[in-house]
Amino acid sequence: MQPMARIAIDGGALYLAASTPYERELMLEHIAQYARRHRQARLELDRHHWLITTPTASPAVVCQRCNEPPRWLAYTEGRRTLCQACAREDIKRCCELVQDSATARAASSTSSRYARRR
Ligand SMILES: [Zn+2]
Repeated sequence: MQPMARIAIDGGALYLAASTPYERELMLEHIAQYARRHRQARLELDRHHWLITTPTASPAVVCQRCNEPPRWLAYTEGRRTLCQACAREDIKRCCELVQDSATARAASSTSSRYARRR
């Protein structure tokens, strides 16, 4: 399975592929745009669920990685809130992990097919 991101906003959802670095960049641009326009958006990726909000909604929050208050958007996953820069790194890594496990699964199913043929 290729990494696929689901972006949910009021009244709709959008599915975006996130297999290549370009697609991931595009997906992150989209989610930031939607969150700014609608004041919040949700991102679902594999088993991860992010809530992206404009920081005015949560003024006392600081990023749990760099300790800076999120200036543009706050990315919350469970109890963890990250600033945009840190969240982008995190989401990209998450896409890579999904991709890697998909590649590993594909490789193992290919080798088992070969094994059966022999
Ligand atoms: Zn940060």
